[in-house]
Amino acid sequence: MAFKLTPLPYADTALAPAISAATLSFHHGKHHQAYIDKTNAAIEGTDHATASLEDVIAAARGTNAGLFNNAAQSYNHGFYWHSMASETTAPSGELVAMIEAAYGSVDDLKVKLSEKGAGHFASGWVWLAEKDGKLSIEETHDGDTLADSAFNPLLVIDLWEHAYYLDHQNKRPSYLDAVINQKLDWAFASDNLARGTTWQYPG
Ligand code: MN
Repeated sequence: MAFKLTPLPYADTALAPAISAATLSFHHGKHHQAYIDKTNAAIEGTDHATASLEDVIAAARGTNAGLFNNAAQSYNHGFYWHSMASETTAPSGELVAMIEAAYGSVDDLKVKLSEKGAGHFASGWVWLAEKDGKLSIEETHDGDTLADSAFNPLLVIDLWEHAYYLDHQNKRPSYLDAVINQKLDWAFASDNLARGTTWQYPG
């Protein structure tokens, strides 16, 4: 199928000042759109033309780097938009118990998430993920993704400079602290945990 750019689940002003409207509109409308367009161009007329995005990613991993990178980036950005909200929510229910078991407290998890993201070398993604009933913080490099992994991803933050440079220049920790403390959508994380299977890119 031809994949579509997922609409932002909020106005492009909703994440300011952590992420400005200028950054968000360019990131979504130019960067994400380009990954979608390149994925669609690569699958047109091939066996992948009717596959889900997750199946395209799995099939292209290790065999077709160009398609893999564009398909994985398409998925990761769709996941990233839903990982944030105009006002952060608090984790609740089973998720809180799992956070406390793995990290001691929600605040401790936030510190660890920020440290992992800040320490990640060059471009990539930092994820909160679940596997076998346990939470972990995972990193993927460049366009790599957890979409076709054994992990159930719960939240993700984009670590590419295009995600923060206009608003925070080279200060990635400033961007991470703003997103983690003000914008993470823990309700999305709970939904992903409750479903128990990996979030599917809207078809
Ligand atoms: Mn990005």
